Amino acid sequence: HPAFDVHAVRRDFPILQERVNGRQLVWFDNAATTHKPQSVIDRIAYFYEHENSNIHRAAHELAARATDAYEGARQRVKNFINAPDVNEVIFVRGTTEAINLVAKSWGGQHVGEGDEIIVSNLEHHANIVPWQQLAAAKGAKLRVIPVDDSGQVILSEYQKLLNDKTKIVAVTQVSNALGTVVPVKEIVALAHRAGAKALVDGAQSISHMRVDVQDIGADFFVFSGHKVFGPTGIGVVWGKREILEDMPPWQGGGNMIADVTFEKTVFQPIPNKFEAGTGNIADAVGLGAAIDYVNKIGIENIARYEHELLVYGMQKLGAIPGVRLIGTAADKASVMSFVLQGYTTEEVGHALNDEGIAVRTGHHCAQPILRRFGVETTVRPSLAFYNTFDEIDRLVAVVTRLASQRKLTSG
Ligand code: PMP
Repeated sequence: HPAFDVHAVRRDFPILQERVNGRQLVWFDNAATTHKPQSVIDRIAYFYEHENSNIHRAAHELAARATDAYEGARQRVKNFINAPDVNEVIFVRGTTEAINLVAKSWGGQHVGEGDEIIVSNLEHHANIVPWQQLAAAKGAKLRVIPVDDSGQVILSEYQKLLNDKTKIVAVTQVSNALGTVVPVKEIVALAHRAGAKALVDGAQSISHMRVDVQDIGADFFVFSGHKVFGPTGIGVVWGKREILEDMPPWQGGGNMIADVTFEKTVFQPIPNKFEAGTGNIADAVGLGAAIDYVNKIGIENIARYEHELLVYGMQKLGAIPGVRLIGTAADKASVMSFVLQGYTTEEVGHALNDEGIAVRTGHHCAQPILRRFGVETTVRPSLAFYNTFDEIDRLVAVVTRLASQRKLTSG
């Protein structure tokens, strides 16, 4: 049983009180986006009511308030991921923009013809396409770490891919399609031993486990605010100071310059060098409030409770006749992908929606890994700490009913 009161926690999330098709909403689409506690909603409203201003530029009271709020959020991110230096935290739009920034800026500088970039078979399209575009532009090659039948990366195969042409290894910490927890620390260490840099996609890990970027040891760690109970439109690139300082700016404009003449522009130091233009100030502040909320509950408490939910859900779903679980690695977080014999994933999704249960059905922006398992789509319930055992029972009841109805009509 959790170290926190799940029912009290649920009351902090106004949207969880919604009714859908006459039933209390069950939100099992946390891998797509998470809901926001009242404290985050209130914090964003407070910003617009009392602090709203552009930052850094104007010398008046509200500019100072807005700047303090924005930089306070940066400090919260730094502490949350245990970054050594607050200036290594760059605000962007989300994970997708974060990876594009690294691929364009660092990749543009360091990846050349004949070089190699390694990703895993598990990656979200956001951690495939920017590298593919870079490889195409530079004449470099994208190489892929295979996974075993449980959906875990095969480290011995990864080691065979590493060589002196490898420039960067980009892997997810948790698969959004299967829930696999990837041994990123080992992957990063092996990349470094081969002289390559490493990027870890934390979009799916950030809300489910303690993230310590110094312990992981990667050169870049990226995530989205909306996957960790914060707002959409805000995300983070963390990078090692020396590497960020050497990288060229990605976009040019205001806020990121120290001096501009028509002959020459001198850029600001990090992080401003990578934050051209007016950023998403209010939502950065909202992300800071989301981190405060998670810290109040405790990420270790969250991880422990979610693991109990996951084990329970996997066991119950796996016991239903005709259910095939996709992704059965020993180390998993949040995600329970499956297909049901005799039904399209869409049909299962509709039947669940009829009962007020929200799951994602589709390819989850991770087509290569689903095809590795011979499917184009799955039903993907994904958990957060505000979910309950009762909600899993409601999900299991619908899938069990579908399974038995199919048996009746076909038998
Ligand atoms: N990587 C992973 C592992 C993800 O799950 C997601 C979102 N589904 C992304 C990247 C992209 O995140 P965003 O859409 O917030 O940019």
